Amino acid sequence: MDGGTACPGCGVHLPAADDVVPEVDASVACTLVHGELMGFQVQHPVMLRYHQLTADAYAAQHAGGSTPLLRVGYALAGLWLSIEHGFSGEDVRQVHRRMGRPTASWPMFEAPAPQQGWLTVVDVAEAGVRVPSERGHAKAVDAWAESVWEAWQRERPGTDDAVERMLAQIFLEGAHPEHLHGTIGAASAVHRLHGLLQG
Ligand SMILES: [Zn+2]
Repeated sequence: MDGGTACPGCGVHLPAADDVVPEVDASVACTLVHGELMGFQVQHPVMLRYHQLTADAYAAQHAGGSTPLLRVGYALAGLWLSIEHGFSGEDVRQVHRRMGRPTASWPMFEAPAPQQGWLTVVDVAEAGVRVPSERGHAKAVDAWAESVWEAWQRERPGTDDAVERMLAQIFLEGAHPEHLHGTIGAASAVHRLHGLLQG
């Protein structure tokens, strides 16, 4: 595309802003589209359940360069939990809150290069906020997140196992497993994860 800039994370070509946002390995123009999606979700509270999946899919698709390991690890954990195991956005947040900071045992996740044919925030915007359609947005977010997760599995085989090992190290071999006992309500997501990792 003439005069456009390719986002270093997802590869989408967009006009104008040619800067790169280093912490997220994304072009400025791409982060603006991401902001457009987030704004649509805030305006329509029924879609807030997609907020976490949107954040994780975006981070996992923009995980190269100098992206902090914490950001990549949390994003891939979020995709693994929601796509592979059906955790809700709130469940994923409960797990995130207890993941802590990266240690030497965390895998060094290496982001795949931009893929031909994977979905990007532009596809989600065009099916949702720019129509506008809440239903289109919901379907597109699911399809986008799955395409990002699928690309990680294809380009970086064993990512799912690496995420599971990372979570097992944190939640089963962590320093304070006793905090898992006697918890109810929101913390049930952590109990569920515990069972999953032991199973
Ligand atoms: Zn991008």
